Amino acid sequence: MPRINKVIIIGAGPAGLAAALRLQDRNNISVTVYELREQPTHLGGAINIPANGVRLLDRLGVYEPLLEGGSITPQMVVHSINGNELGCLDHISRIKAKTGYGFMRIKRTVIIDALLSKVQACGIPVHFNKRLVAVDEDAGTGATMTFSDGSCDTADLVLGCDGIHSAVRKLHVDPELTPEYSGISSMSSIVPVPTDLEGMHATFTSQGSVAVVPCTDNLEEKELFWFLTRHIPEPDTADKRDGWNEHREKEVAGFKNTLQDIIREIGGSWGSFLHDVVSKAETVNFYPVYRLPHRGVWHTSRCVLIGDAAHAMQPHVGQGVSMALEDVFLLSRLLKKESAPLEDCLRQFETIRRPRIEEFASQAANNGNRSRQKGPWQMAMMEWGMWAWFLARRVSSLWSWGIREEDWLYDIDEVDID
Ligand SMILES: Cc1cc2nc3c(=O)[nH]c(=O)nc-3n(C[C@H](O)[C@H](O)[C@H](O)COP(=O)(O)OP(=O)(O)OC[C@H]3O[C@@H](n4cnc5c(N)ncnc54)[C@H](O)[C@@H]3O)c2cc1C
Repeated sequence: MPRINKVIIIGAGPAGLAAALRLQDRNNISVTVYELREQPTHLGGAINIPANGVRLLDRLGVYEPLLEGGSITPQMVVHSINGNELGCLDHISRIKAKTGYGFMRIKRTVIIDALLSKVQACGIPVHFNKRLVAVDEDAGTGATMTFSDGSCDTADLVLGCDGIHSAVRKLHVDPELTPEYSGISSMSSIVPVPTDLEGMHATFTSQGSVAVVPCTDNLEEKELFWFLTRHIPEPDTADKRDGWNEHREKEVAGFKNTLQDIIREIGGSWGSFLHDVVSKAETVNFYPVYRLPHRGVWHTSRCVLIGDAAHAMQPHVGQGVSMALEDVFLLSRLLKKESAPLEDCLRQFETIRRPRIEEFASQAANNGNRSRQKGPWQMAMMEWGMWAWFLARRVSSLWSWGIREEDWLYDIDEVDID
C-alpha cells in the first residue's frame, strides 16, 4: 500500500500547478490545490526559463503550447552607455545542441494559463479564494488545513507552494523565518512595439540597469518586456509594508520622469530606441526584491515547502521557476521510494536540493550587485571589464557571466537518490 494516498497543495503558482500534475500523473496520488486569490494571478511580466527548466516543462506536457507564446532567441547583448554594442553572448545554442532545449522568455500569465489548463483537463480540483488560517499536523495520521471560510481538509502530505510569504511556513513549518530585502528594486512593464529585436538587451547606467527582451517570437504580436533594476534603500518606517506601499505609489506616479532621467544617460540610436519603448508604457509594476535567508527549515513530518516558499532568491539568474520545477520532480521520485519513511524522503529532498539552490541564490545576489549606483570611474571600469570579458569569451567559451554550463545541462531526473 502506498504511504501517501492524498496530497494537499497550497498555492496555484508554477510550483503548485507543476506539483499537482506530476504527483497525480507519476505517483498516482489524489491531489487538491487551494489558492488564495480569486482567480489565476495576472501579475508579473515576462520570465526567463533556462534549459534545465524548459526540459521539465516538456516532461509536464506544456512545452508545445508555451513555444507558441514565448520567445526562444538565444543571444544576450550588452550595450555601452554610449549606445554601442559591447558584446553579444550566445551560450544557449551550445546547450541546445547538447540537450535539445534552449532558453525561453515568456509572459508569466502564459505559463500559468498553460499549467492551469492542463491541471483542470486532468480533473485535479483547484479551489480559489482560500485563505489558510491554521495548520494542524499529527505525525502519525495526517495534516489538516483550515481556511478562513471555515472549511478544512486533511491529507497525508501538504506541499506549501505558496510563495515567498508562505502561510504554510509562517503558520507551521518555520514561523521565525522572515524574508529580507535585497537592496534591489525592479520596475517593469510589457509594451507592444513593432520591432524585429531578438534576444535580451541590457545596458548598465550609473543609476541601475535597463533591459529589454521580446516576450514572443510571433512578429504579429510582438511585445517587449522592459525592466529597470536599481538600488533603492528600504523605507525608514516602522511598518515596512506601509513604507513600501507609499514608496510604490510615488514610483508608479513618477515612473516616466524616473525612466527618462536614467535613459537620458544612454547615447546613440540605442538610447533613442529605449526612450521610445518606455514612452509607450502606460503604467508599471514596481517590486522591491525580497529573498529568504538560507537558514530556513523546509519540512516537518508531513508538510514540505516547495519553490519560493522554501528558497525565494533574487531573480537575477532567472532560475526561480526552474528551481520550483526541479523541487517538484525530485519530490515525485522520492515519494516513489515506498519502503523509506516519509520523513526520510523529505530529509533527502532537502539534502539534495540545498547546495544547488544556495549556489544559484549567491550567483543571483552577485548579479544583482551589478545594478548598484556607480560614479563615472566605476562606470568606465565596469564597461572596460565587460569588454575584456567578451573578448575572453571568444578565446574560452567556458566562461559565462557567472553561469556555468553544467548548471543548465543538469537534469534533476538523473540525480542519484538511492
Ligand atoms: C521581479 C521578479 C522577476 C523574476 N524573474 C524571474 C525569471 O526571469 N525567471 C524565473 O524563473 N523566475 C523569476 N522570478 C521568480 C519567480 O517568479 C518565482 O521564483 C516563481 O514564481 C516561484 O513560483 P512558486 O510557485 O514557488 O511561487 P509563486 O509564483 O509566488 O506562487 C505562489 C502562489 O501561492 C499563492 N498563495 C500565496 N499565499 C497563499 C496562501 N496563504 N494560501 C493559498 N495560496 C497562497 C499565490 O497567490 C500564488 O498563486 C522573478 C521574480 C520577481 C519578483
